[in-house]
Amino acid sequence: MVMNMACRTKKELKELVKEARKCIAHGKVADYIPALGKANPKDLAIAIQYPDGKCISAGDIERKITLQSISKVISLALVLMDRGTDEVFGKVGMEPTGDPFNSIAKLETMTPAKPLNPMINAGALVVTQMIRGDHVEERTHRLLSFIRELTNNSFIGINEEAARSEFETSQLNRALCYFLKHHKIIEEDVETLMDLYTRQCAIEMNCLELARMGMIFAMNGLDPDSGKQIIPENIARICKTFMVTCGMYNASGEFAIKIGIPAKSGVSGGIMGAVPQKFGIGIFGPALDQKGNSIAGMKLLELLSETYQLSMF
Ligand code: GLU
Repeated sequence: MVMNMACRTKKELKELVKEARKCIAHGKVADYIPALGKANPKDLAIAIQYPDGKCISAGDIERKITLQSISKVISLALVLMDRGTDEVFGKVGMEPTGDPFNSIAKLETMTPAKPLNPMINAGALVVTQMIRGDHVEERTHRLLSFIRELTNNSFIGINEEAARSEFETSQLNRALCYFLKHHKIIEEDVETLMDLYTRQCAIEMNCLELARMGMIFAMNGLDPDSGKQIIPENIARICKTFMVTCGMYNASGEFAIKIGIPAKSGVSGGIMGAVPQKFGIGIFGPALDQKGNSIAGMKLLELLSETYQLSMF
């Protein structure tokens, strides 16, 4: 059993962080959303949350990060719970793409113009559109309540500056929305959807909370503390499958081969990992590699996976 083998001590984890820090200089903070450009590229933190309540962490763990694309997994889980698989996958596909996360290219060649999967922006915008509620505040609140339950923290909120910064500069996402609106995949007002989507991306937490969300996915949706099945098993399984096939942008194939852990990254430098039946991982390292993944975060996961044989394959 690897369960209690992984990083038994904080000291072991600190060593891995020290090693991973060496590659930070080769990364770059995302600045196409101006608020993200303010992050300190030297930050690096990791937390591992076990189902028995034990948590070990190392690095700059007090830093908060916005979820960015990590939120795509959570909104997908919520919408699948609300609407079921037939309705959701009637509007968004299940196939990985080798294209960048914000690409419009494949939409043009698909008939109908259905986004390939919910982890790329086109697909995530369609999923966010399906969050139920009468107005943006109510829909944001539903997503936040779900995330507060997953993190067991009722104070999780939104970084308003990051939300506004993305809302003001999100022309490419607007272009995706208008394209999908033309094809009747998106039906609601584009500015309303952008408001909701940019708030979703700006939900903020530290890597301990990120690790707890990962742990719930690792446990197939069960919260071991309360005994509550927060996410139905089949939906947690679908989310984890997307994390494996499309979670690390167009580096997902290599990530599956080298690391083999269901994970989702975001341009803020966060990574949420879910080692099935073992533990959740939360990482924060804003210096990104060329594909948009945390450069030191990837290294950390590689070291963890190798050292503790965590690959699920
Ligand atoms: N809010 C970001 C965007 O849509 C999320 C991108 C990401 O983290 O991959 O551009």
